[in-house]
Amino acid sequence: MKLEMEKLIAHLKSQGFVFQGSEIYGGLANSWDYGPLGAELKSKLKKMWWDFFVKRNPYNIGLDTSIILNSNVWKASGHLGNFNDPLIDCKECKSRWRADKLIEEKFTDMNVGGWKNEELENFIKEKDIKCPKCGACNFTNIRQFALMFKTNQGVVEDEGSTVYLRPETAQGIFTQYKNSQRALRKKLPFGIGQIGKSFRNEITPGNFIFRTREFEQMELEFFFSPDDTTDWFEYWLEKVQQFLLEKVQLKKDNFILREHDKEELAHYAKRTVDIEFKFPFGTGELWGIAHRSDFDLKQHQEHSGQDLTYLDPATNQKYLANVIEPSVGVERLILAILCQSYKEEQLENGERIVMELPYALAPYSIAIMPLQKQQKEQAFNLFEDLLQEFDATFDETGNIGKRYRRQDAIGTPFCITIDFDTETDQSVTVRNRDTMEQERIKIEDLKDYLNNKLK
Ligand code: ATP
Repeated sequence: MKLEMEKLIAHLKSQGFVFQGSEIYGGLANSWDYGPLGAELKSKLKKMWWDFFVKRNPYNIGLDTSIILNSNVWKASGHLGNFNDPLIDCKECKSRWRADKLIEEKFTDMNVGGWKNEELENFIKEKDIKCPKCGACNFTNIRQFALMFKTNQGVVEDEGSTVYLRPETAQGIFTQYKNSQRALRKKLPFGIGQIGKSFRNEITPGNFIFRTREFEQMELEFFFSPDDTTDWFEYWLEKVQQFLLEKVQLKKDNFILREHDKEELAHYAKRTVDIEFKFPFGTGELWGIAHRSDFDLKQHQEHSGQDLTYLDPATNQKYLANVIEPSVGVERLILAILCQSYKEEQLENGERIVMELPYALAPYSIAIMPLQKQQKEQAFNLFEDLLQEFDATFDETGNIGKRYRRQDAIGTPFCITIDFDTETDQSVTVRNRDTMEQERIKIEDLKDYLNNKLK
């Protein structure tokens, strides 16, 4: 059964995962806040990425750079001149659209990333693509719309004080590449990872948290010698898939790999593969892996006048490193996880909504419940003890069936119930979210049992 986005959004709101931004003031278009459970899920996902790509990888290190950078960074990177989207206006209802997305939303198996404006305009006319708002096919020509948010730094608002909110975290990495390499005495090959907010004044944000104007990215820039014969692109493409399949536990059938053809490839890129997830509203980019050659370091070397070459201690040669960049949006990955996890199940005694989140990402790993009021104190003591080691919640309201449903709905893998017999047999009932099976476990064995299951 196809998941309806409206249902998912309503569920995530009611359970405290995602709220509309500024809701009490009528909201702010396409902005979303993460509630207590969403914040927990997000933080676990980011930690999972950081662990996998930064801490447990033998080559990599991490970094945390500013959102606002010297504007010359954006000149050098090309963002100031070229970071635009093709904007088209409907002459009838005055609504504004991204021309490439108008086409791709109508012809879902097409990708027009590399097309010129004229080609986009002609295709829209030829295929009689209509304005999604009013149904007319009467558009203006395409204009380029700059995506960077502009603001001013300091007390004087003049051209010299103009700064931009970063549209990607990657450039912060390039600007601190040399400092990081020197300080940590890194030899090529090595990578630098960063997680942080990025901002893009998107023409048509939407599809819930898929495309927003404020979002977070998890980016890795992996630097290597141009003479290195290892296929680092394949290495990172494999690693990303391993992360998706084993850590995030996306099902293989739910995503595809799409290789960019020559037309779509940026002029400096040697190869790009997008991992696209099958969202309920269509297939969309989740993770981009790009071979960026030495483009970024070359640009920054030119514009900054600083030497960004690497002196190879083995050959005594100086060169600019090449770069592979795997880049993913936190919220897009969360959306993929949520879409895959949300299930409505028909049971003998009614129905349940269950979020089959990977154990490691569930906001709570366990919920502790007294069967009746009489066991509350005993249950609370156990809760306090387990809380030191596990992400736990305490739930005492409603009948036990309702409490199980509540925990299913937020994806808690195990419920632990303290009942009449606990006092005498020093055991509790542990219920599994996915199988709904129950087991009687001795309290003294409980931590080992849970550690084992949650591993
Ligand atoms: P799109 O074609 O969807 O606009 P892009 O190719 O511009 O994406 P990149 O610049 O490659 O995206 O950014 C890397 C990653 O950052 C994307 O794969 C996506 O996961 C995430 N991302 C980019 N833009 C947004 C956005 N507006 N909202 C949420 N996530 C985003």
